[in-house]
Amino acid sequence: MTRCWRWRVSPAVHELAVCQALMQQVEGIARDKGAHRVTAVTVRIGPLSGVEPELLEQAFPLAAAGSVAETAGLVIETLPIRVRCDTCGAETEVSPNRLVCGDCGDWHTHVTSGDEMLLASLQLITDEDTAHV
Ligand SMILES: [Zn+2]
Repeated sequence: MTRCWRWRVSPAVHELAVCQALMQQVEGIARDKGAHRVTAVTVRIGPLSGVEPELLEQAFPLAAAGSVAETAGLVIETLPIRVRCDTCGAETEVSPNRLVCGDCGDWHTHVTSGDEMLLASLQLITDEDTAHV
């Protein structure tokens, strides 16, 4: 008899590493602000960053376990992709599979936004009150 095993989907190693780097940043900020708990973490992810939002969501609780952000919610916002045209100088918003100038259609462009992942904001609980940074 042949049995078929399906792989359980687990967070990719890449996203876990990204999350761990993110948590270091979060913990550093929380320490600076004197926060004892982080309730929400907002990140912005560019479609060209190579980070899968879905995998990041799965990896987050693992990376946050035992940290100041253990119970924090993760909010993911998507960044637009923008390119600057080397020919006409225009900066336009484009789609991931079509990195051409939105103005003149030239493909001599370089990405100015959309390949990064940013820590956008944190919601913190300090001794005094709830802070938002
Ligand atoms: Zn152009």
